[in-house]
Amino acid sequence: MSISSPQPLPQPTDSAVGTGGTVTDRLVEANRRYAAEFQDPGMDARPVLRVAVVACMDARLDLHEALGLELGDCHTIRNAGGVVTDDVIRSLTISQRALGTRSVVLIHHTGCGLLNLTEDFRHELEDEVGQRPSWAVEAFKDIDADVRQSMQRVRTSPFLLHTEDVRGFVFDVTTGLLREVQPRG
Ligand SMILES: [Zn+2]
Repeated sequence: MSISSPQPLPQPTDSAVGTGGTVTDRLVEANRRYAAEFQDPGMDARPVLRVAVVACMDARLDLHEALGLELGDCHTIRNAGGVVTDDVIRSLTISQRALGTRSVVLIHHTGCGLLNLTEDFRHELEDEVGQRPSWAVEAFKDIDADVRQSMQRVRTSPFLLHTEDVRGFVFDVTTGLLREVQPRG
């Protein structure tokens, strides 16, 4: 059994991709229009609000809109699940030590693709391609427990300078509302 998409994916329509081009061609075209209007904001690379947001890559989660963020306000670090992996710690370490952020906001969400996966994904992948991935799937069943685990990984990292202001949330993709997850203890 293939472990790629369990359901047929919606096909992009012609109007979505533009006539004759790929989706990337459409993005490049949009960028030309963006750049035509663009004015150099003269910003520093250090985020204005000194905050790093770690979130799932989910397409329904518009972090800037959902959190009232403007260009230049924050670092956004995204991956499947918004899980705090070693590579997220790498980005947070650079964010804090080289670019001055102090607060960390973690955002997972309802309906996450990782809720339907297990570590079997990894074994099936190994069976299919003959190579074991070096990474964990980081699948989870209990979203609050996973947010707590991510908070704990940030708080206990020896590489980070600032671990006092670390808060975790679940974003509801149907209401747009954040619900805070309280750390245990
Ligand atoms: Zn997700």
